[in-house]
Amino acid sequence: MGLLQDKVALITGGSRGIGAAIVKRFAEEGAHVAFTYASSSEKANAVAEEASASGTTVKAYKSDASSYEQAEDLCKTVLADFGKVDILINNAGITRDTLMLRMSEEQWDKVIEVNLKSVFNLTKHMLRSMLKNRGGSIINMSSIVGVTGNAGQANYSASKAGIIGFTKSIAKEVGSRNIRCNAVTPGFIATEMTDALDEKVKEAYMTSIPMKKLGEANDVANICVFLGSDMSKYVSGQVVSVCGALNT
Ligand code: NAP
Repeated sequence: MGLLQDKVALITGGSRGIGAAIVKRFAEEGAHVAFTYASSSEKANAVAEEASASGTTVKAYKSDASSYEQAEDLCKTVLADFGKVDILINNAGITRDTLMLRMSEEQWDKVIEVNLKSVFNLTKHMLRSMLKNRGGSIINMSSIVGVTGNAGQANYSASKAGIIGFTKSIAKEVGSRNIRCNAVTPGFIATEMTDALDEKVKEAYMTSIPMKKLGEANDVANICVFLGSDMSKYVSGQVVSVCGALNT
């Protein structure tokens, strides 16, 4: 029996990177999984097919997490398709890196909308059903730079710091209703998001990571398995780092 046997998870941004690893690990642990993507239909279908080989139901939904209306429709559809959602993982995220003097209003707004407003959107539309079910686990994907800050990432760092404040507030607001809310702060994980970084930035990261290697998407997925499972039933309002001791 898996650690997430018969639980239902809704994961945003599951077509690639960390989200795709979470979808697959959750299915391996016995969870039924609904996940979203923004535009990569082919990749999303491939992830759904691979993950469903574990024997659970895995379904991909095209839905823009930054849209309040689309998030509402998505939550209704997933609840109709799966009957319940025990675990919500707000993972979808983007970067629009540039120095503050060059940052446009569009670059600021887009990152805040996709990374932070999405967390509000999904939590808002899923909470009522979790309250009715008398339980749930919400996992929000923040970042180590939400704690430390990073030059060239004022928009991204602000969105990820906002997620931490949101997470702690929700944990306090609904803790008495057996709903837990935690944030995960990955460090430097090998995905398409970090592939896109400048070589000099990557080198600088490597020298500053005490473990001297990048993390893998599964390193983050495994923490999510723990936070989604009953093994963490008394863990809420916490920020869990997966960063090779980067922020130590
Ligand atoms: P990634 O490889 O770029 O994948 C991003 C995922 O988010 C994709 O599935 C993408 O869908 C989806 N997405 C983007 N915009 C969306 C939207 N508006 N609505 C719904 N889905 C959307 O990123 P990653 O590296 O796996 O990162 C995943 C999360 O971890 C992000 O929140 C990121 O900030 C955080 N994180 C990553 C690192 C790292 O080192 N990689 C470190 C710290 C935190 P499409 O495929 O359709 O575009």
